[in-house]
Amino acid sequence: MTGFASLPPATAAESAAQTAAELQHSETGILQDIHALLSGRQFAVLTGAGLSTDSGIPDYRGPGAAPRTPMTYQEFIGEPGNRQRYWARNHIGWSHLRRADPNDGHAAVARLEQRGLLTGLITQNVDRLHEDAGSVNVVDLHGRFDQVVCLDCRRLFSRRMLASVLEELNPGFLERAQAAGVVEMAPDADATVEDAGLIESFVVARCPACAGTLKPDFVYFGENVPKDRVERSYAMVDAARALLVAGSSLTVMSGLRFARHAAKQGKAVVIINRGPTRGDNLATIKLDAGVSGALTWLAAELPAL
Ligand SMILES: [Zn+2]
Repeated sequence: MTGFASLPPATAAESAAQTAAELQHSETGILQDIHALLSGRQFAVLTGAGLSTDSGIPDYRGPGAAPRTPMTYQEFIGEPGNRQRYWARNHIGWSHLRRADPNDGHAAVARLEQRGLLTGLITQNVDRLHEDAGSVNVVDLHGRFDQVVCLDCRRLFSRRMLASVLEELNPGFLERAQAAGVVEMAPDADATVEDAGLIESFVVARCPACAGTLKPDFVYFGENVPKDRVERSYAMVDAARALLVAGSSLTVMSGLRFARHAAKQGKAVVIINRGPTRGDNLATIKLDAGVSGALTWLAAELPAL
């Protein structure tokens, strides 16, 4: 972790002052406005891939990201070859993602909750880094990378357990993949591998309980977010007096709808994101900046409730 642990002993205010000094002057002015808007109010937080880039997990929609088309649910279900390709890449991707640590941004969000400022946290990330950083009231809107679901019996399994099953079915695969070169990592633990022969050699695991089809427990493109997660998320926004969006371009409706919902209720919508978002027209204040520094400053400076 590169966060608070690596800082020399300092009071929260001193740390915040250091962070503020690293922010651009123009950014600090907007942060002061955000501070004024959120002070004394409980708010909901919605986070996306931009929060995890400082943990080494690339944002495939962020500025400079290579265009990438994730596999849809229909493609995954429709073709055994697609599932083989998917699981081979996921096997490589998971071994990378499981080593990621939460960063200052995750620590700051956990601190906002500990200080009583949040009605809840909605994250579009599947990496579980918010929970690792100590956040408790979290909706993993798009699921969890560390779980696998059987599409036939609906049982859940740990991804860690599946990793050892896949290792046994595919001895030496990760070493050969490393030699072939993993060219890109995506935030959903999907790695791009150019070597088709390597992919075709991959043996996919079946459900240990019913021999059914296993799928990572996250929401694919073309698949709906489970209703209970959506309802919990709306409840967090309903209970809040403002919504803070951090590190999400709000490209997909699954996240954008909460910004629309808050705006419709006349609640303040604050967006902190590097680059434009699909919700910019809904924002009461928009800060175009990296999220870790801004969130660290807010977590230290906002008065506890
Ligand atoms: Zn099963």
